[in-house]
Amino acid sequence: MRISFSKARFLTSAFELDQLPPDQGSEVAFAGRSNAGKSSAINCLVGQKNLCKTSKTPGRTQLINFFELTADSRLVDLPGYGFAKVPRSLRAHWDRVLSSFLLERAALRGLVIVVDIRRGIGDLDQALIDMVGAELPLHILLTKADKLSRNAARKALLDAQRHLPAAEHSLSSLSVVTRQGIEELEQRCRSWLEMATESAPN
Ligand code: GDP
Repeated sequence: MRISFSKARFLTSAFELDQLPPDQGSEVAFAGRSNAGKSSAINCLVGQKNLCKTSKTPGRTQLINFFELTADSRLVDLPGYGFAKVPRSLRAHWDRVLSSFLLERAALRGLVIVVDIRRGIGDLDQALIDMVGAELPLHILLTKADKLSRNAARKALLDAQRHLPAAEHSLSSLSVVTRQGIEELEQRCRSWLEMATESAPN
């Protein structure tokens, strides 16, 4: 079945692993440093202004949010990382929950790591790439591309490319203001979600 991102609707939120929806079908997850532009990127992908709440207060999304696309496919919005004011116990909680989710979730087909194109890939992004890069297909999404000149954006893409551990991983840039790059993001997510759906037994 062809995935229509515009049909996305909120399904459920999870704080603990036992609150996750059944581990079946196919999912693409979005991760990123707080304020990187993850909520905006998901909203742009689904063409809905407020599916994910965007906020200028970093660190507010502290649940795993699931958005249903079809009965068998979902987008997953992971809590933003790198927000200094998160208490140590909560950080430990998310380290545990997210590593389990990313490494053990059978439905998970790929991970989009959202990075502010002006900052480039930082230590926490790199730690995530190192943790899951051998297990899961990755796509680095350099967003807020409208904030840089075309040349600077091209250079940022080349710099980010060096952080990708394997050829099967990919990257692209996006501006939610101009929507430049949205087709590439759609294509990446669609290929992960549809490939999995087609190969699944009926
Ligand atoms: P999140 O914490 O990663 O979910 O980040 P948000 O999506 O809330 O975005 C953080 C800030 O960056 C907000 O003020 C957004 O309006 C802004 N932002 C996000 N994407 C873009 C973009 O492509 N271009 C510009 N100019 N601003 C963006």
